[in-house]
Parts: sequence; structure tokens; C-alpha cells
Amino acid sequence: MNHPGGEAERLADLELGPEDMRAMGRKVLERVVRHLASLGEMPICGDVDAVEFCRQLREDAPEEGRPLEDLLELLFDDCIPRSFTTPGPGYLAYIPGGGLYPAALAELISSATNRFTGIWQAAPALSQLEGNVLEWIRQWMSFPDGSAGLLTAGGSQSNLTAIICAREKYLGAEIRGGTVHASSQVHHSIRKAARLAGIMPDRVRALAVDGRFRLDVRALSRAIQADRRDGLQPFLVVSSAGTVNTGAVDPLPEIAELCQREGLWHHVDGAYGGFFHLCPELRPVLRGLEQADSLTLDPHKGLFLPYGTGALLVRDGEDLRAAHAASAGYLPRAPEAAEFYDASQHGPELSRPFRGLRVWLPVQLFGVQKLRAAILEKHELAVRAATQLAGHSMIRIAARPELSLFTFHLTWPGAGLQAENRATKLLIERVKARGRIMMSGCTTQGRDLARICVLSFRTRGEQVELCVTQVLEEAERILAEERV
Ligand SMILES: *Cc1c(COP(=O)(O)O)cnc(C)c1O
Repeated sequence: MNHPGGEAERLADLELGPEDMRAMGRKVLERVVRHLASLGEMPICGDVDAVEFCRQLREDAPEEGRPLEDLLELLFDDCIPRSFTTPGPGYLAYIPGGGLYPAALAELISSATNRFTGIWQAAPALSQLEGNVLEWIRQWMSFPDGSAGLLTAGGSQSNLTAIICAREKYLGAEIRGGTVHASSQVHHSIRKAARLAGIMPDRVRALAVDGRFRLDVRALSRAIQADRRDGLQPFLVVSSAGTVNTGAVDPLPEIAELCQREGLWHHVDGAYGGFFHLCPELRPVLRGLEQADSLTLDPHKGLFLPYGTGALLVRDGEDLRAAHAASAGYLPRAPEAAEFYDASQHGPELSRPFRGLRVWLPVQLFGVQKLRAAILEKHELAVRAATQLAGHSMIRIAARPELSLFTFHLTWPGAGLQAENRATKLLIERVKARGRIMMSGCTTQGRDLARICVLSFRTRGEQVELCVTQVLEEAERILAEERV
């Protein structure tokens, strides 16, 4: 304790010198690039049976710092491999996306420069870049001038914000009588978001679907009338533009028309399917999307960005602002009118990451043409896989790939539902156990289905061929066992 003051000052200094920063950056980048370059060789599902390992990981925060190398080793050698290899090319489970590398660089820039993008005045030019991103998304989705947008952490948050906008507009303070209508296939985040928005589960209707898993518009109409007869107040219909279960796209134009006639908010959950609208070839599948009052998108799916990138469009931008406008004496005033984009006037956050950059940089670097081509390719790959599988009598396609997701189950002469369910679930497990391809499953109306979703930019023809081969091989083997 010779120089207590000097020692305390040294201890309190958290700044790094330029050479240290460069050296740390190089080490991190080296591990990251090595990791990405070997994604194709990694098991598609790491050792996620990790209960004991997780218990070992628990520790108190260290009083003294540790070397970066040790921490990178822990992350890259022990923790990251214990996961689904979601960015891997053989990942066809749930809804993939991959995570474009330039978006990671954008994250580095935005976190390192750490400017405040919650309020326009604090970083007007950066806010404008985010405004540009939202304007691109508006144009891609053919939403009208006067729409407003918001980048969120994901589809769940976008759905929540949309429900709040609808609730504010149609219910005001009297929310208990409000009811929400959606199909039985709608994403579970809708029920969760409704509850968070004060619309309790007994006010959310799960309606019948047709043979293609699409919302039955006549059932919708009847349910709305029934609620009204009961003195309730339907205010919101949620459609899906690509369900997670089977990829179904609800009849959007008919639902839009019904909502218009009945004076209801029409929200479209396009978290999976929305970005296919970028491809003129696929717009007919999504017809009516552009008529929605609000639209959820997930750039971390259809735009291949890293997790934590969601988006919302609201047709009448005033509805989004009305639900979020807020100010305080200690803050600069929000910009006049809607010419400039002020994130805190459009969403729930004040301080926030500069989310716009992780969309902006990849779009600038690659150009839209390239993204569109990649999205279209994923559709074509899914169609090819479904067509090849459909040619086999032991496979029945349950839902064709309208976008890039399809479902199927195993079948054979004399098989009952239980046996087919068992065999189909076994198939998913057996293919995963081979280590290169991961599919996932779903259950609809008591039937277990295997689902293949092609949406990682890293998934190319090679992986889809491998998937078809492995599915057929394992299916043959399971059927041989069943027949014994
Ligand atoms: C992924 C998804 C969601 C949820 O979005 P998150 O980004 O995971 O929060 C909601 N709806 C659909 C249709 C989805 O595919």
C-alpha cells in the first residue's frame, strides 16, 4: 500500500490501449472464422444432454480478470458445441436462418461505437439509416406510404407490439371484453403476446382449419358473430403467412375483406413466410399480405440474419405512434411529424442496441438481388426435396412446400395412426443420429409429422440431396423393422 491513490486509479481504469484492442480483436476473429469455416463438419446436433456440464458451469463472478484465451476456449470448445448447430448447412429443423457474417461485423461496429439510437436527436444520421432499413422493408412488402415500422428482438415481440396497437385502437381502456381470433395453427407467441397485452387466454379463439391447414374463413365469421352475441368485442384477427407447423398460408385476401367489413384489425404473422414476398415468383402465394393492418417479419429467419432481429410493419403509422408516443422533461423533443425516424416513439424501448445496422450492412454489401436469389433458391430446394420424397409409396406428403417448408409422414399398407406416428418420430431421430441433417416434427390433429424447412443461406443442393437420401434410407429400414 505504498501508493493507495495510484493503485485505486489503476484498478478503476477499464480502457484498453489500441494495441490491446487489436490483439483481442484478432484472437476473437480467428476463433470465429475457424468456427464458421468448419460448420459443415460439425455434428448437426451437439451434445445437448448437458445437465451435469451445466451444473459444473455455475460459478461466482471472478474477483480478478482472466485471460481471453481461456475464455475463448471455454466458449468455443465446451459451450458452443453443446447446442443444435443452427447455423450449419444441414439444419432443416424449426425455422433456420443461418446468421450472415456481415451482420456480426455490424454488431461489433454498433456495440463498439455505442451511439444512442433510441432518440433521433442523439444520432440523427444513424437513425436515418435505420429509417432506411424500415423503408426498404415497407417497399419489399408493398405496404403503402404512411406505414411505420419497428425493428424488434424477434417475431414474438413484433406480435406483442401489433396486438397492443390493435387493442389501443379498438378497445382503449375497456380491454376485458376484447377477443382475438386466429386458427388452431397460429404460432403460440400469439397467445403469449395476447396475455402480456392483457387479453387473457379465455378471450383467444383457436379456429378450425381446412385440409391445407389454413384458417377456415366461414368458421372465423361464425366465431366473430358468436362472440358479439355473447356481448364480447372481437377486435383482432391474426392470420399466418407461413405457419411453423406446416408452412400454411391463410387465405389472406378473404380474411382482409372480412376484417374490413367487420371493422377488425388484421394482423398477419409473417415471421417465417414474409420475406418470400421479395421474390416476384412467390408473391401469388402471399397474395393479400400487403393489405394487412400490421405484419410481423423475422429478418433472423427469411433474411438470414442472426437471432435477435425482428420487424413489424403497421399500415397506418399513426397507430404505432399512438401506442408508443412518450416524452419527458429531461429528453430532447421528438422530431416533428413523421419525416424522421425516432425509434423510441415507435416501440417500447428507450436505450436500445442499434439494430438497424445488422440489417443495413448485409443488404448494402450483398445487394437485394443476391438476397432475393437466395430466398428463391430455398423455395426451389424444398420443392425438389418434396417432389423426390413424394415419389415413394412409404412417404405421404401432408403439406406441400408453398414457401420452403413441407411436412410428411411414413405409411405402409395396414398401418394405423399410432404405428405411423411412432415410425415418423423414429425417422426424425434416426436421421438426426447420423449427424449431418436435422429435421424437426410437429403434431397436428393427433398426427405426428416430420417437417423439413429449408431457410438457411448455407443450405444448398448438396445438403438437400443428402437429406432426401438419408430420409429414404432410414424410412426403408424402419419399415423393414415394422414388417417383421
Ligand atoms: C419464429 C416465429 C415466431 C416467433 O418469432 P421469434 O423471433 O422466435 O420470437 C412467431 N410466428 C411465426 C410464424 C414464427 O415462425
